[in-house]
Amino acid sequence: MQLTHFINGAPVAGAAALERRNPSDTRDLVATFPDADAGVVDAAVAAARAAQPAWAAASPEVRADLLEAIAATLFARSAALGELLAREEGKTRAEGTGEVLRAARIFRYFAGEAIRLHGRTLASTRPGVEVRTHHEALGVVGLITPWNFPIAIPAWKAAPALAFGNALVMKPAETAPAMAHALAGIIAECGVPAGVFNLVLGAGGAGAALAAHPGVDGVSFTGSQATGQKVVQATAARRARVQLEMGGKNPLLVLADADLDRAVAIALDGGFFQTGQRCTASSRVIVEDAIHDEFVARLAQRAAALNVGHALDPATQVGPANSEAQLARNLDYVGIATGEGGRLVCGGERLQREHPGWYMAPTLIADTDPAMRINCEEVFGPVVSTIRVHDYDEALSVANAGEFGLSAGIVTNQHDRARHFRRNVRAGMVMVNLPTAGVDYHVPFGGVRGSSHGPREQGFAAFEFYTTMKTVYEAG
Ligand code: NAD
Repeated sequence: MQLTHFINGAPVAGAAALERRNPSDTRDLVATFPDADAGVVDAAVAAARAAQPAWAAASPEVRADLLEAIAATLFARSAALGELLAREEGKTRAEGTGEVLRAARIFRYFAGEAIRLHGRTLASTRPGVEVRTHHEALGVVGLITPWNFPIAIPAWKAAPALAFGNALVMKPAETAPAMAHALAGIIAECGVPAGVFNLVLGAGGAGAALAAHPGVDGVSFTGSQATGQKVVQATAARRARVQLEMGGKNPLLVLADADLDRAVAIALDGGFFQTGQRCTASSRVIVEDAIHDEFVARLAQRAAALNVGHALDPATQVGPANSEAQLARNLDYVGIATGEGGRLVCGGERLQREHPGWYMAPTLIADTDPAMRINCEEVFGPVVSTIRVHDYDEALSVANAGEFGLSAGIVTNQHDRARHFRRNVRAGMVMVNLPTAGVDYHVPFGGVRGSSHGPREQGFAAFEFYTTMKTVYEAG
C-alpha cells in the first residue's frame, strides 16, 4: 500500500521515502509513504487557514452530521480497520478492533458536543448592560500523534477540533501511518470540506515543521517527554496554545488486605496487556511486605503463561513490540535494572516465533529500589518492576516520587485507605481496584507534573483547548 498526504481535499503523493513493516512478521510490508518537508507542511497549513472561517461559520448541525457519518463508517468497518491496526501497530486483533470502536464512539460523542457548546449570560455590574461569554473556534490546529493508539488518539484530537469549528493538520507517528491514512480517507468520504482536515505523513521533521509553523494557532501533542519538550519550545516561541500528553511511570499499590487473585489480575492487565505500550501502564507495582512474596510469585506465574505471538493469531494475548528500537529499549532496561540490583523473576528475553517479529517475553523484575532507573524512567514495553514497602504510608511516598504523574492505582478493601490515596496521590487519574490503564472516552484525560501540560483532553473538558472565549458587553 502506497500512502499519500491529504491536503485541501485531495491526495498529494510524494516519493515513498519511508516504510512500515508488520511487527508480528517483518516480511510483511504494510505501507510505504512520503516524508513531508516544510513545503508540504506549508501547503497543508495554508489550506487549513483558507477553509477554517467557513467551517466555523457553518451551522453546528453541519459539523455534527459529519462527525456522526464518520462514527457510523468506523462502526461499519471496525473489523477490517481493527485488522489493519493489529497488522501495523502490533496489538492483538481484539485490542485493535476495540480501539476502532472507541474511535467511532469518540466521533459520535463529539457529534453531540458540537451542538451543545454553550456560553454564559451574566448580570453586568453596570445597569442597562448585558454581558455574555461565547466559545469560538481556536482556528487552525496542528495534531501530532504517537503510534500506540493509532486511531483513538487521532480521533480524540480530530473529533473535538472539527466539532468546535477548527481546521486541522495532522501528523501521525511514522510507525503507524496507515491507520491515520485510513481515517483521513473516511473523513474525506464523509464529506469534510476541502482544507478542513489535512494529513501530512513523515518523520519527526514534519512534526517539528508543524509545531513551529506561524499559521498554526495551537498544537495538541501526544508522545514522549523529550519530543514534548521540543514542541513546547517551538510553540512558546510564538505564543501559540499548546497541549502535551506525555509519558508515565504509573504506580499500582497492592495493600496487604487486597484479594490476591484480584490484585494479580489487575497488575497483569495494567502491566502487560497491549504489550505494556500504554502511557497509563502499571509499570511500578508497590507491594506491602506481608504479601509481597506471594504476590510476586503469582504474578510471575500468570505473566509467564501469557501467550505472546502474532497479533492476528486469535490465541495471542500479547503482541510484539512496535519496533525494533522499542524492543532494543525494553531489553536494555532489563540489563539496567538487573545491573542496579533488581531480580529478574520472569521473562527478560527476546522470543523467537514462527514469523520473524519483535517479540519479547513479559518481564517481571522484583526487589527494586524506588531510586533505580527502572522505577524513574518510562520503558514502554512489557516490563514491570515491583517495590517492597512496609506499610501504606511508605507506599504512598514511593508512588509520589519521580517526575511523572499520569495515572495511579490502589488495590485494597479498606475504604479509608482508598479515600486517602485518591486525595493524596499526585496523578491526574486515580484508579481504585482497577488497572492504571483503561479509561472512558467521555471524561477528561491527563496528568500532572512531567506527564502533561496544558488543558485536559477528551470528554467534556476537550472544548477548553479547541476553543477560545469571547466576552461580549452590550448596552441597549
Ligand atoms: P514520540 O515522541 O517519539 O513521537 C510522537 C510524535 O511526535 C510522532 O508523530 C513523531 O513523529 C513526532 N515528532 C518527533 N520529533 C518531533 C519534533 N521535533 N517536533 C514535533 N514532533 C515530533 O513518541 P512515540 O514513540 O510515538 O510514542 C510513545 C510515547 O507517547 C510514550 O512516551 C508514551 O507514554 C506517550 N503517550 C502518551 C499518552 C498520553 O496521553 N499521556 C498516550 C499515548 C502515548
